[in-house]
Amino acid sequence: MAQKLKNYIGGDWVESSSSITTPVINPATCETIAECPESTRADVDAAVKAAQEGFEEWRRTPVLNRVQYLFRFKTMMEERFEDITKAVVEENGKTRDEARGEVRRGIESIDFATSVPVLMRNDGLEDIAAGIDETTVRQPAGVFAAITPFNFPAMVPLWFLPTAIACGNTFILKPSPQTPISAGLLYEVLHDLDLPEGVVNLIQGGKEASMAVMEHPGIKGVSFVGSTPVAKLVYETCTKHGKRVQAQGGAKNYIAVLPDADMAASVKNIMGAAYGCAGQRCLAAAVVVAVGDAHDKLKEELVKQAGNLRVGYGLNETTQMGTVVSAVAKERIERMITQGIEQGATPALDGRNAQVSGYEGGNFVGPTIVENVTPDNILAKEEVFGPVLAIMKANDFDEAIDIINSSKYGNAASLFTTNGGYAREFKYRVNAGNIGINIGVAAPSASFPFGGQKDSFFGDLHGQGMDSIEFYTERKIVIERWI
Ligand code: NAD
Repeated sequence: MAQKLKNYIGGDWVESSSSITTPVINPATCETIAECPESTRADVDAAVKAAQEGFEEWRRTPVLNRVQYLFRFKTMMEERFEDITKAVVEENGKTRDEARGEVRRGIESIDFATSVPVLMRNDGLEDIAAGIDETTVRQPAGVFAAITPFNFPAMVPLWFLPTAIACGNTFILKPSPQTPISAGLLYEVLHDLDLPEGVVNLIQGGKEASMAVMEHPGIKGVSFVGSTPVAKLVYETCTKHGKRVQAQGGAKNYIAVLPDADMAASVKNIMGAAYGCAGQRCLAAAVVVAVGDAHDKLKEELVKQAGNLRVGYGLNETTQMGTVVSAVAKERIERMITQGIEQGATPALDGRNAQVSGYEGGNFVGPTIVENVTPDNILAKEEVFGPVLAIMKANDFDEAIDIINSSKYGNAASLFTTNGGYAREFKYRVNAGNIGINIGVAAPSASFPFGGQKDSFFGDLHGQGMDSIEFYTERKIVIERWI
């Protein structure tokens, strides 16, 4: 039997109190590579107790000492870089290079957190009234938790953990039970750092563990990344239980291409945006809105290049697109393609029933392009989260903006053009949290906040950047008179 993963509580690896496990399946080879325990409320309670006990010592640890752990964390992550990327490929199905990109981005979030001694500083003013000084202090707020998705199993936890602990809080991670191995490796590195007990804790599991985190009175705030229905549930549950919450949800990202765009560069970018990580990115391009004459050339080139992508096992270095995460995901994606076609879309490249020699049972969906997609089609409206690109037509720029803004999601949107005026209008008018101009994947770097609008985000403060400093600290005003 595959190894049963452990939780990490109070500085020790511990067995979950539950004997129920979920198999972690390599989506290309279909082997069971680990068993993820369905941790219970009692497990979460033990993690919260450890984090609460660790908090008093950790918050008194000077911030300059706290960030020394992060400098070492970064170095040790570099040493384990290839191990962690391999685990990401094995449990998630993406390619080796995509996994390397993910871990690199995660390490950049550690870099960001080393700036906390500067970012936590406050302002103040002498003589706000005669002889009275007023200052703001930012203090650690307590125990924070993150509930994270399958698609970036190493990176997303690092959006939160480094900054949370650099700010003096203690932390609990509940990763996706579909991809829990990478998180376990991150915690192996954290264990080797010799942090004080209880500063970082790991709970493996699914819904029960998530609910216990959201409802636990000992947790101050929760960061969530995942699908929109769960993001909404997390937002509602956490606010009901008096917690801070930032819940990043699903997406349907549109890319508009104007006839004046550099077509070769646009296609190259759109290819990466649509098929990178087999479309399982919250910033994946899902719909291309071709404006006017841009349509025919764009479609022809996209179909040609997508048809040439080498689909295969992510650990083979020549693979350009890996699997989707599971048999359930493959079935959902193929069903949505079928529904889109039944609703009037035309398949220009059909990736259903893809087969890869040597990996016959693997969860491959080939690159797919559907055209003549209308705004009411499921492929224009709902998140597919797979390598499926819908092509829509717009007569002009204004119609393209209307199409994009009619989406219930608002994570990202991009424009390809050589016209600065259109670029400015696009930035100004499109309702999405991340805007790309001649960039297909508008992924902010770690020092900028990341989050969407509309049904792509529930909360106030986004993840990362200065928003994360606000999220992870409590502000206090001190007014003093000494003379
Ligand atoms: P998911 O919503 O199924 O799961 C996310 C997390 O929530 C996991 O840890 C899971 O165990 C937990 N969970 C699932 N159902 C739950 C329930 N009913 N109650 C409590 N907890 C529950 O998401 P996923 O399939 O792992 O990830 C893919 C989704 O994440 C996509 O929709 C994608 O767009 C989104 N995503 C968003 C961002 C962003 O920044 N906006 C980034 C990455 C992924």
